[in-house]
Amino acid sequence: STNLSSLYTSGQFALSIEIFPPKTAEGDAALRQALQEFSTYNPAFVSCTYGAGGSTRSRTLDWCREIIDRVGVAPTAHFTCVGSNSDELIEWLGQAWQLGVRNIMALRGDVPQGETEFKAVEGGFSHARQLVELIRKEFPEMGIGVAGYPEKHPEAASLETDIAFLKEKITAGGHAVFTQLFYDNETFYRYWEMCLKQGIDAPIIPGVMPITEYSRVKRIVEISGTKVPAELLEQLEAAHLRDDKAAQLEIGIEYSVQQCQDLIDHGVPGLHFYVLNKAHATSQILQSLGLKNSEITTG
Ligand code: FAD
Repeated sequence: STNLSSLYTSGQFALSIEIFPPKTAEGDAALRQALQEFSTYNPAFVSCTYGAGGSTRSRTLDWCREIIDRVGVAPTAHFTCVGSNSDELIEWLGQAWQLGVRNIMALRGDVPQGETEFKAVEGGFSHARQLVELIRKEFPEMGIGVAGYPEKHPEAASLETDIAFLKEKITAGGHAVFTQLFYDNETFYRYWEMCLKQGIDAPIIPGVMPITEYSRVKRIVEISGTKVPAELLEQLEAAHLRDDKAAQLEIGIEYSVQQCQDLIDHGVPGLHFYVLNKAHATSQILQSLGLKNSEITTG
């Protein structure tokens, strides 16, 4: 089965899809259907997030199992350092291994709401690098993905220091970098170049989130400060003011198709889609791109 340690080395483009564990039975049913639809695009893997505060501990693994059983695709389980000491981290990783999970997205996790800095639990970790080291030592055959931030992690003093810490995660055993979402490709290309210059030799896979409506993009900009091209934002806002939902979706999809095509033309090793459990927009984008996993060779 697909392992992140070798997935990107063949020069073959790899499509991946990220889902999250739903909170309701309707959400579960909708996600099962979305997964069926995605399977027609032959993703190299489907990843499932781990809830903030460690809240979806077992749900993440349940969905990894669903991805194996129902979609027949390799799962990647996201995992964070939040709320677990190293024994508990090892126990969860052991469960994941037993279920057939062979790839972990190794993360630190976010600072809990209302707090100002990340605090490790007793006997636990304060940096994702330590989780990477633990996985490498205890589960040497596990594939490991790590997070990268083209617009800098919010807590980092500078993009340079952030990339230096990213390099530590790769040196510790990370196999591939998956980026935070962005809408301005130039930002990604600059980041890619900086990472290469600093000697990061792992593949860097851009994370993309299809735009479906103005209000969502506006929220993302407000929360994370992600740069969105002014012209795109203006077009979306105009459609929003006309209360034209179909136009917003159309503008968003068209933009995503262009964004993804430009990334592919620049030879990215793959695309990681933040699909928010919705199949429609992503399906349309993949269709427009003519994206079937095996059909692209990266530059
Ligand atoms: P780290 O790599 O530890 O970095 C965190 C901060 O610490 C950075 O500012 C970094 O520069 C700094 N730093 C690193 N090492 C050191 C050091 N030695 N000394 C001082 N400073 C240091 N969150 C979830 O809760 N669940 C998920 O499923 C999830 N999935 C994600 C998937 C992707 C692809 C991405 C990009 C993010 C995801 N996140 C998820 C969010 C992530 O947990 C947060 O962004 C978190 O704040 C940082 O995690 P990290 O793994 O990048 O941390």
